[in-house]
This record gives sequence, C-alpha cells and structure tokens, in this order.
Amino acid sequence: MTYVFNPAPQAVVPTTGGAGFPVHRIYCVGRNYVEHAQEMGHTGREPPFFFTKPADAAVPVADGETGTIDYPSLTKNLHHEIELVVGIGLGGRDIRAADAARYIWGYAIGLDMTRRDLQNDMKKQGRPWSIGKAFDQSAPIGVMHPISATGELTRGAITLKVNGELRQKGDLADLIWSVAETIEHLSAAWVLQPGDLIYTGTPAGVGAVVRGDVMEGAIAGLGTLRVAVR
Ligand code: MN
Repeated sequence: MTYVFNPAPQAVVPTTGGAGFPVHRIYCVGRNYVEHAQEMGHTGREPPFFFTKPADAAVPVADGETGTIDYPSLTKNLHHEIELVVGIGLGGRDIRAADAARYIWGYAIGLDMTRRDLQNDMKKQGRPWSIGKAFDQSAPIGVMHPISATGELTRGAITLKVNGELRQKGDLADLIWSVAETIEHLSAAWVLQPGDLIYTGTPAGVGAVVRGDVMEGAIAGLGTLRVAVR
C-alpha cells in the first residue's frame, strides 16, 4: 500500500524503562473529585461521563525536561487541570472493576488543558465540548511508570503549582469514581485498546494560565511534570 501523503507520526509517551508507549486514544473523565465538581457548580453525585481528545493532542515530556505548549487560539481563559493518567496495556470490553488492574500498563502525570470560556459557552448551548477540550497540544503528559514498579495507585497526593505557587491539591483516594470503576464504565462504552490513555479527572483549584507561566504537577510515586506556556 502506498499513501497519497505521509501518515501522521505516532504520538508516543516516554516510559521509565526507555521504550515508548504508543498512544491509541485519549479518554477523559469529567468532574471526578467532589470539590472540583462543586467548584464547577455540581453536587458530585452523578454517574461518570467521558469526553475524548485526539491522540495527537498529547505533548509528551521526557523526564527532567520542561515541555512547552503554545497558548491556544480563540480563548482568553486557558485553564490547567492536573490529572492522574492511566495507560492501558491490554485491550478488553466489559471489564469488571475487580479485574481492571491487569489491563493497566502504567501511570503518568497529565494536564487536561481547557479553553474554559469556550467550554462554558458550549455547555450553555448544550453543544459538544470539543472546542473547549480537544484542541491541539491540550494533553501534556509526563513519563509513564509501569504498574509493575508502582503497584496499583489508589491514594497519594496530587498537586499543581504555577510559577511555584500551589494552585491545586488533592488525593487520589478522593476520586469519586476510582480508576478501576472508571475502567469498568469506560469499557462498557468502548472496546479499550493497548495505548489508550485515561485522564482520570482533576482535583479542586483549577484556574487560568497565561504566556510565560510554568506549571509543575506532581503525583506521589510519579515524580513531576513541568510544562511552560509560550
Ligand atoms: Mn479534566
């Protein structure tokens, strides 16, 4: 088979072992920490819901490096959302929460960057969130750590600083829908594939960044992720 033009390059997340984790799809969970759901005007007692980003929205950041994203078009309110990202290593459908861990390849720190003004406009109009969530460079992600090294992550601090100032703080134990439950719900709706990433939701404290800001996310056991906005 020849192509009429060259295929797009594969998005690849670095791993601690050196081999690359090729990205298949990016799924995201909405409002998955109680205090964040409340700051967005909700009770936090709703079933999990999902949205997606294109695989090439991933901005992989190697260990010890500072990644960069361009301030996106159309928005005046670019928000940070620090999140635990789960990398799927084994495909499957209708996965039960009790079995979910064996489908996980590893974990990384991610940022679900959001054009909040556009997302809010779409919410008001009952329209899809894509323009607010699924834009270019909207999914920075750090080095993936294999579950074989970290064990199953169910608790631990998750924080985000902007220019050294603490903005977001939470604990993985406070996820409304645990990673295992999220995989159960997600795999009922889509067949999960190796290479799928799941951005699992953000704790309270989301806010705006501007050009020149440096975000530094941290999750216990996964190190840090640094990303600058240019
Ligand atoms: Mn999010």
